[in-house]
Amino acid sequence: MSNTIELKVPDIGGHSDVAIIELFVKVGDTVAVEESLITLETDKATMEVPATHAGVIKELKVGVGDKVSEGSVIAIVEVATSAAAPAPAAAAPAPAATPAAAPAAAPAIAPVAGQYAGAVDMEVDMMVLGAGPGGYSAAFRSADLGLKTVLVERYGTLGGVCLNVGCIPSKALLHNAAVIDEVAHLASNGIKFGKPEVDIDGLRGYKEKVINKLTGGLAGMAKMRKVEHVRGIGTFLDANHIEVQLTSGTGKDLTGEKKVIKFAKAIIAAGSQAVKLPFIPNDPRIVDSTGALELKSVPKRMLIIGGGIIGLEMGTVYSTLGARLDVVELSDGLMQGADRDLVKVWQDWNKHRFDNIMLQSKTTSIEPKEDGIWVTFEGPKVPSEPQCYDLVLYSTGRSPNGKKIGAENAGVIVDERGFIAVDKQMRTNVPHIFAIGDLVGQPMLAHKAVHEAHVAAENAADHKAYFDARVIPGVAYTDPEVAWVGLTEDQAKKEGIKITKGVFPWAASGRAIANGRDEGFTKLIFDAENGQILGGAIVGPHAGDMIGEICLGIEMGADAVDIGKTIHPHPTMGESIGMAAEVAKGVCTDLPPQRKK
Ligand code: FAD
Repeated sequence: MSNTIELKVPDIGGHSDVAIIELFVKVGDTVAVEESLITLETDKATMEVPATHAGVIKELKVGVGDKVSEGSVIAIVEVATSAAAPAPAAAAPAPAATPAAAPAAAPAIAPVAGQYAGAVDMEVDMMVLGAGPGGYSAAFRSADLGLKTVLVERYGTLGGVCLNVGCIPSKALLHNAAVIDEVAHLASNGIKFGKPEVDIDGLRGYKEKVINKLTGGLAGMAKMRKVEHVRGIGTFLDANHIEVQLTSGTGKDLTGEKKVIKFAKAIIAAGSQAVKLPFIPNDPRIVDSTGALELKSVPKRMLIIGGGIIGLEMGTVYSTLGARLDVVELSDGLMQGADRDLVKVWQDWNKHRFDNIMLQSKTTSIEPKEDGIWVTFEGPKVPSEPQCYDLVLYSTGRSPNGKKIGAENAGVIVDERGFIAVDKQMRTNVPHIFAIGDLVGQPMLAHKAVHEAHVAAENAADHKAYFDARVIPGVAYTDPEVAWVGLTEDQAKKEGIKITKGVFPWAASGRAIANGRDEGFTKLIFDAENGQILGGAIVGPHAGDMIGEICLGIEMGADAVDIGKTIHPHPTMGESIGMAAEVAKGVCTDLPPQRKK
């Protein structure tokens, strides 16, 4: 028996009259539940709308360019009666560039594909898919706990995004940029150097050397642990087998050979990739962070689309090397997530790098021409004429790779955005398969991935482990650095949480003044009722190196007395943490007398 059903636009976060920019189906197509039907583009993000029912498309009610709202009918499908019940949670589309909430508990087991019964090349206790900071840490910990472990990774080097095209290369470049900036700054102390001569090939070579040293180290450590790196693209065949199409060269070249690995347990650590919005054309002068890190040349004018940490870090490098910057950001401020008072310090210090900071604004067209990339903008304070750039960096977020690994064959549930839900032991809905890192949710940070990796590996080896971290710090390695952890002041205000705070301005720090960098401050946030530290933030050089002490304070439930009475070495910037705690208690003697509370 068959039945017809209308496939409708679900709740799309309150947006209405949203344009359809892609249509994935036509009349006569058979669609599966969760298969994408259309892509919508709001002013904030693009989102794919999945089918809520499987069936054959009988009639299409929309086309590209049409505008739809919640409840608009997309298509009419003919479904088999037994399949007419809607999919449980598949209806909500997800903005490609918005954060995933941390999943609370693993959902029920999805239907599993038939068991693989073919030949097997290798049999292991543990298969880890993806060798980023999450994957290699999971593999090494598994091996240390006695599991025979294999690491499946498409690229020739271990380390994933972080070591090859993320944290490490960006910091190698930022370090050099910071030295150039500091040397220029010395002129005001009476020490003048000539204008730096930048050999871009040499700088790129330095960055490569840093990467090679670290990835080479990982390869050595894998060998010591007898963790084999099977180089190729892994696709699950079922819940205990993965097929690996072997690769060579850049990692995308298939050799044509395949290996099937049988595993008792698995950890999925397949990471994420940069979101490319559909209206961004292909042109070598339009790059994501990986392209920007290639450092092919220094543009005269550079546009950063998306004013988050990655874009601003790359902008810092290019600006120090000589580029003029524009940044366009949809929200009302750069570096979202950090308190605005910190961002203001960063922004004041960096004014000279930018021609235009376009907030609550977006690009309306991007056109590559011979003389440059011409971009038009819409927003309250944007240039009225199209602007020409030599380099455009899009850094509008990263999307998880969950949909690209055949997870459904193993019965692992992947949501519409490509995230995999896990419980506090990092288990997916399939109990012997774990998932970690960028793939399981925000924040997409290497230190979160590594922490999760250890939890997953320890559980897989039948130890008892639990993801119980109270906080995960965030750092922008810009100049000055901006670091924050736990509750922010803005968040406390918004959520009506009663706090007391202690702020120590670096203008009163002997070390900051001696360094000629007293623009920053250190802020601690305490629970107004029990006095425990809930959060903290630092803006200033090396803020990222100092935030760990605040993380430890939060994990240990410290209060202002614990922190203030801890003797910090003098003169250091770290001292500012103890002094901020003293300020909270009204006992700081490095500032004018405080009013009695
Ligand atoms: P990834 O590092 O993404 O690794 C996943 C690996 O899986 C990749 O190597 C991929 O090739 C492999 N893979 C995927 N699918 C398959 C498959 N089917 N078969 C075989 N292999 C597969 N974080 C910080 O904490 N600090 C920073 O300073 C920082 N800076 C960053 C700067 C930039 C420019 C970028 C882009 C990111 C930065 N990050 C930073 C984020 C950090 O890189 C990620 O959070 C981290 O790499 C995530 O680790 P992961 O193990 O989850 O995945």
